[in-house]
Amino acid sequence: MAVSPTPSSSADNPDAPGRLVQVRQTIADAAAAADRSAGSIELVAVSKTFEANAIRPVIAAGQRVFGENRVQEALSKWPELKQQTPDVVLHLIGPLQTNKVADAVGLFDCIETLDRPKLARVLKKEIDRLGRTPELFVQVNTGAEAQKAGVLPEETDAFVAQCRDEFGLAVSGLMCIPPVDEEPSLHFALLEKIARRNGLTKLSMGMSADYDVAIAFGATHVRVGSAIFGPRTPYAG
Ligand SMILES: *Cc1c(COP(=O)(O)O)cnc(C)c1O
Repeated sequence: MAVSPTPSSSADNPDAPGRLVQVRQTIADAAAAADRSAGSIELVAVSKTFEANAIRPVIAAGQRVFGENRVQEALSKWPELKQQTPDVVLHLIGPLQTNKVADAVGLFDCIETLDRPKLARVLKKEIDRLGRTPELFVQVNTGAEAQKAGVLPEETDAFVAQCRDEFGLAVSGLMCIPPVDEEPSLHFALLEKIARRNGLTKLSMGMSADYDVAIAFGATHVRVGSAIFGPRTPYAG
């Protein structure tokens, strides 16, 4: 994997605002079908690999919540974008290494990938030191995939309690990335069940291919990248 940020899409992305309108309509339709208000669902526009010039049209179209999966890459574009549009809300949706926690706490408004005690301990230390408290979601590895980050479903209750009681961290939600080759609804239902029994109200689930399904299963945050920004050039390396 490349360690340096590699924003790969250079054009201004003129089609993105139109696709954003379509995604918002799909969210509204899925919400209506599930008897939910569209306002109860936050669209997290995933801008990873796209450089600032490709993101600006989406900000100009009114989108304010964005997701990035690498701290270094986010640092290369968002401080300036946030200065220009201070009400932007930034979510970290990729794995967080402990040596990047200070940067992450300084930049992100929500960290969706809390998944281990060591990370919880360092997060608490940096939150106290910097006096800045991002919202925290625990990532659950609902498919128990060896290569994927996240807490195992059967360990989630204990980890959420440990974050609260041992580390003094307020966890407000759960996040999952279902296995690519499985029916996502099973994973969405499992995440909803774990959240409910832990009194957590926020559920980050659903991506471009399945965010309508996730809304039917209670998603409060959908993470949509390519359906807004267009196809991504994969990271080099
Ligand atoms: C890239 C990414 C997304 C968005 O994926 P799309 O299929 O482009 O919508 C959502 N969540 C996570 C964790 C990602 O890394």
